[in-house]
Amino acid sequence: MLEPHVRAILEAIGEDPSREGLLKTPARVARAYEVLTSGYGQDPKAIINGALFVEDYSEMILCRDIDFFSLCEHHLLPFFGKAQVAYIPKHHIIGLSKLARLVEVFARRLQVQERMTTQIASTLMEELDALGVGVVLKAEHLCMRMRGVEKQNSVVVTSAMLGSFRTRQATRQEFMTLLQNNRG
Ligand SMILES: [Zn+2]
Repeated sequence: MLEPHVRAILEAIGEDPSREGLLKTPARVARAYEVLTSGYGQDPKAIINGALFVEDYSEMILCRDIDFFSLCEHHLLPFFGKAQVAYIPKHHIIGLSKLARLVEVFARRLQVQERMTTQIASTLMEELDALGVGVVLKAEHLCMRMRGVEKQNSVVVTSAMLGSFRTRQATRQEFMTLLQNNRG
């Protein structure tokens, strides 16, 4: 139960949890955290395995600008941005909506952006048995921006390249070119 702990935080910061505006806050915060950390209860591998299609296609597939919202595990403050997820299939392709679901399952846990990037890439690589996977995450971290540390407007970019995305310069280049095209 999260509610008594939220009440304790309110008291610790000098608030009065019994004043009208805060009466329902512990319950609301508890419900919000349930959603924001719902990724712990979900198996990322099951999401992929339930949506594989055999397809004779061996070109790059890119799902762009997947919005994500996560919580940094150091401050429990949000970091959020967009994920770019690409892969080159070997035997199987996956429904595009599942790529967004995969990002969401990892985002809805306490995270560091670097680990989240690697988790998305390696889960896809393993479960799809793909020729290669490339993942780029761009995010703003409120723990940096709100607390005024480092550069106020800095965006953190992380990437994970596996298989042919790591070994073939041409593949990496194609990925980067696709990411830059049609930027509106
Ligand atoms: Zn942080």
